Amino acid sequence: MRPLTPFFLLCYMHTTESPNRFTMPTVGTSSSGQFSCATATQRTLRDLRTKRKGQPLFVMGHVLNRRGLEAAFEVFNDRLAVVKFSDGAVLGYDPLELLLPTDIDEQGIPYFEIRHCPRCEQLFNLTLDECDAEEEPTACPDCRT
Ligand SMILES: [Zn+2]
Repeated sequence: MRPLTPFFLLCYMHTTESPNRFTMPTVGTSSSGQFSCATATQRTLRDLRTKRKGQPLFVMGHVLNRRGLEAAFEVFNDRLAVVKFSDGAVLGYDPLELLLPTDIDEQGIPYFEIRHCPRCEQLFNLTLDECDAEEEPTACPDCRT
């Protein structure tokens, strides 16, 4: 077991708190079943072939005070994915910086299991399978190979 870093702790708290404070956007889609979760081959917004408005995302990115927050995909503007935060703020990100949720429950509440890769210092998301596995991966997909 590796020691908890402050960042990891932050993510952990974020993950456990998120079901209560994240409100799902209702515009554009009728059901949460249309949104995508992380899989072995699809982990960021960039990997999604169909990017639906309202898709829940975990923001990494360059804006420090928005890092680690959840947001919903709005639209593409040039090459940037424009996302909306729960406080109404709207910002553009590289789709690579937007992680898909680990799971979305029947109520449409997204769950993000975000981990910190000790090798490349990047955050990465777990797929539901990885989350349920007896031993979850300790390194990000890029560092595992
Ligand atoms: Zn890594």
